[in-house]
Amino acid sequence: MAATTRADVSNFEIVSHYFDVAAERLGMRDDVADVLRSSYREVQVQVAITQGDGRIHTYRGYRVQHNGARGPYKGGVRFHPEVDLEEVRALAQLMTWKTAVVGIPFGGAKGGVNCDVNELESDEVQKIARSFMDKIEKVLGPTRDIPAPDVGTNAQTMAWLMDEYGKLHGHTPAVVTGKPIELEGSYGREAATGRGLIYMLREAGPHIGLSAAETRIVIQGFGNVGSWAARISHQLGCPIVGISNVDGAIRNDEGIDVDRLMSFLHDEGGKLTDFKDADAIEPDALLAIPCDVFIPAALGGMIHKDNAHLLDCKMIIEGANSPTTPAADEILTEAGVYIVPDVMANAGGVVASYFEWVQNLQHFRWDEREVNDKLGNVLRRSFRDVAERANRDKTSLRMASYELGIERVLQAAKTRGYIGG
Ligand code: NAD
Repeated sequence: MAATTRADVSNFEIVSHYFDVAAERLGMRDDVADVLRSSYREVQVQVAITQGDGRIHTYRGYRVQHNGARGPYKGGVRFHPEVDLEEVRALAQLMTWKTAVVGIPFGGAKGGVNCDVNELESDEVQKIARSFMDKIEKVLGPTRDIPAPDVGTNAQTMAWLMDEYGKLHGHTPAVVTGKPIELEGSYGREAATGRGLIYMLREAGPHIGLSAAETRIVIQGFGNVGSWAARISHQLGCPIVGISNVDGAIRNDEGIDVDRLMSFLHDEGGKLTDFKDADAIEPDALLAIPCDVFIPAALGGMIHKDNAHLLDCKMIIEGANSPTTPAADEILTEAGVYIVPDVMANAGGVVASYFEWVQNLQHFRWDEREVNDKLGNVLRRSFRDVAERANRDKTSLRMASYELGIERVLQAAKTRGYIGG
């Protein structure tokens, strides 16, 4: 069964489009927009490792530091075969606006290696992580640039990255976030992006007359972000009526038992489409399941002009980065769908990463409740700031988020003297 198709519009084109519209709405000068649009530093490296077949496999690794006006660069590392410089550049730029929208003192960065973790043994992934770190460590550090997990990487990958950095610089837990708890990771970090989506649901729901507890949800992508959003909303009593991953999609109008599904996938090694308590469906049919909220939590460009009309939901909460192309955004907005954009909606991960970094710098640990409470406070405030601006300017949450983020970065850049005028 083929997975849902992605748009032929790249992540870079998506982010650039939204930036350009926001910059124009803000009346920004072209020369200033050029500075804010382009990356500060782009590092491209060779990652060559000997694999189990005895052959040397050569991958490309990237770290893009987009803008550091508001603080050290911050952003995830993606291990995925489609990673390339343009994609990493787009994701790095999105991080700049995201950290600014939620008001945490970081700039934006992203990294990645074009390897397919599904085809690799764990020791091969470890070699890739260590080799990648060896090549980029000079531009990283707790006050320079702090990586975190993204697609294809997790707490284990962060532990390898931290360990490799430590060989060169001494034990430095604050150089990466999203680490395992036993290695100075933060309670609540792993679930934070998914939890943040549900905080967004609670804030945004009343705007369109939805109460979180009865909301019917469909989730595309069942990795870190999608599965935590599913588990937390399931606990709140929301029926999760459709779920997909790279293997296919399932549907159950009565609600999928998310805990049983987790155990089927992870403890029993089952495949999503073999889960007995739901019907296997074509991946594109997932989009057409009637629901209140659709949560894209897979890759960019999954909702595009050729499938946006299929969606039958009242709200989209963007867990993935750049899941909606500008053409799809227009179709959905026209159809009255309320879109909570990536640049704010999925910021829970980077906010909890900020908390992890703060704890590491203080050599102190907060309990999970404290992390979740602080996370809720930051995200609620961000939603209200953005919703207020959208209301004031009669624009979308996406435009209001971009404009707020860009304005804050510009202000910081000007105050530092990094941008004149
Ligand atoms: P992950 O690797 O843990 O999970 C990705 C999921 O997407 C997997 O279930 C995979 O099977 C599924 N998938 C891949 N291709 C698919 C397809 N064609 N159709 C349906 N499902 C497909 O990654 P993640 O960390 O959960 O990240 C998911 C998205 O959320 C990405 O866009 C990422 O940039 C974004 N994001 C992640 C974080 C974080 O903290 N991990 C934070 C902010 C944003």
